[in-house]
Amino acid sequence: MKLYEYMAKEVFQQYRIPVPRGRVAAEPHEAEEIARELGVPVVVKVQVLAGGRGKAGGVKFADNPREAKHVADELLKMEIHGYRVRRVLVEEKVDIDQEIYLGITIDPGDRCPILIASSHGGVSIEEVPDKHIVRERIPMQWGLYPYQVRAIAERMGLDGGLGRDFGNIAIALYRLFREKDAELTEINPLVVSGDQVLAADARLNVDDDSLFRHDLPDTEKLSEIEERVAEIGLSYVQLEGDVAVLANGAGATMATMDILQQYDSAAMNFLDVGGGAGVESMTEALRILADTGPRVLLVNIFGGITRCDDVAEAILRVQREGVLRDPLVVRLIGTNEEQGIDLLEEEGITAFRNLEDAARVAAGTPASGGAEED
Ligand code: GDP
Ligand code: MN
Repeated sequence: MKLYEYMAKEVFQQYRIPVPRGRVAAEPHEAEEIARELGVPVVVKVQVLAGGRGKAGGVKFADNPREAKHVADELLKMEIHGYRVRRVLVEEKVDIDQEIYLGITIDPGDRCPILIASSHGGVSIEEVPDKHIVRERIPMQWGLYPYQVRAIAERMGLDGGLGRDFGNIAIALYRLFREKDAELTEINPLVVSGDQVLAADARLNVDDDSLFRHDLPDTEKLSEIEERVAEIGLSYVQLEGDVAVLANGAGATMATMDILQQYDSAAMNFLDVGGGAGVESMTEALRILADTGPRVLLVNIFGGITRCDDVAEAILRVQREGVLRDPLVVRLIGTNEEQGIDLLEEEGITAFRNLEDAARVAAGTPASGGAEED
């Protein structure tokens, strides 16, 4: 689970990692009030579960409360990397002397946590030349040693009080990483501002399987879609493409992703209805996917315990509700396949038996190739 920046910063504060003063706002007038409270120039930042907000125009500055209101109004109307902006974070604008990158994640090769730091922060770490990146393995049984963080601080060009503050932040960040079962935590940029070091940005991704033992801030606000999926107890994953996929079972779902890719297409998300999903949960699953606004919705069901006529029934229900605004492509095979396909065809919906055919249509690739290709 990814936390929004403002939530991650709440967790950072519990670990005494300094962050700029500020609060989250859902309405322009709230942004104005916060800016008035802070009484200084502010930065207003969209809260979406994606990075690169600065580049996408999602980070703006304001010199006074009225301007903060105006800027928040603009940002709250935006869509950034496919996410509608529902909240903005209004913070004091800090003067930046230096931008550092500091992150901790698991290195699957080394099978241990790894700290990554760079004196060239503020940009995506993928864009930083290797020679400016410090990688430090963290022994699981001992954690980060003070001598390790002192050496890293030095390589960041920080000494004296700044070096000590950096070290304390790195150690606190690792403690947070461990205690919150994080998959990734990242401060980019960690800024040096005068004699202070503080986290201007915050990222925290927590292992979904550990959520039951954490009391994380406001997780219910995460995303409407994820909430609805959780209610029916299914698994949903957000991806980058434009095809919404409903399939049953992890294997069938992965195979659907693969075959879409084979036709130069990609899934926007997938919802795995698992084995034995009933008409009710399948209907809700389809409604949810329709609400994510894909270019096309691909249903791939291999009926075992799940009955194809139940699947057809769910499809016809959402069809009648009129929520299916996007083209629908269905592949149906297995238990009660005939009944399912007949039900759909009576209503003018074609169902394929072959996954390749369905994926090709969903991808928008011509069957014969050649003629219609560039
Ligand atoms: P991201 O683009 O999603 O990573 O959003 P960030 O929170 O990292 O903001 C993007 C960039 O905006 C940062 O790298 C900074 O250069 C700049 N920025 C953000 N907050 C401040 C601030 O308080 N003061 C100044 N001067 N720049 C800021
Ligand atoms: Mn950032």
